[in-house]
Amino acid sequence: MDGVNLLNEKEENNYFLGGKSMDTTNYIILKEEASRCLLCHEPPCSTACPAYKNPAGIIMSLRMDNYKVAVKKAEKAYFTAGKCQVACDNKMYCQKSCIRGKIDRPIRIKMIQEILTYKEGM
Ligand code: SF4
Repeated sequence: MDGVNLLNEKEENNYFLGGKSMDTTNYIILKEEASRCLLCHEPPCSTACPAYKNPAGIIMSLRMDNYKVAVKKAEKAYFTAGKCQVACDNKMYCQKSCIRGKIDRPIRIKMIQEILTYKEGM
């Protein structure tokens, strides 16, 4: 079964981000991870970032099914702060600070940002 057929019309519109289609597996990962986020009032993931990114804001946009804005936020963070590996030496301060980690496992923030900023040929 084609995964795209599982989407409702609103989701399908968001699924294709300005003509850029998203792999079905990545789409499901984003949906699952965003749904696990506790939407913290003062998100430790964002305050922990040494490059002043706002992963909580990106996840909030995903939670609202606003994929275009999530991509824009992730890309802005990507280009202003540089690659995650450079900004924080791949130590994932955001993910290690995630409150959800006290319940089961932290939100996969690094993976979310990588999926949203992935472009072929980069
Ligand atoms: S700390 Fe974790 S649970 Fe809280 S907003 Fe950030 S990603 Fe979501």
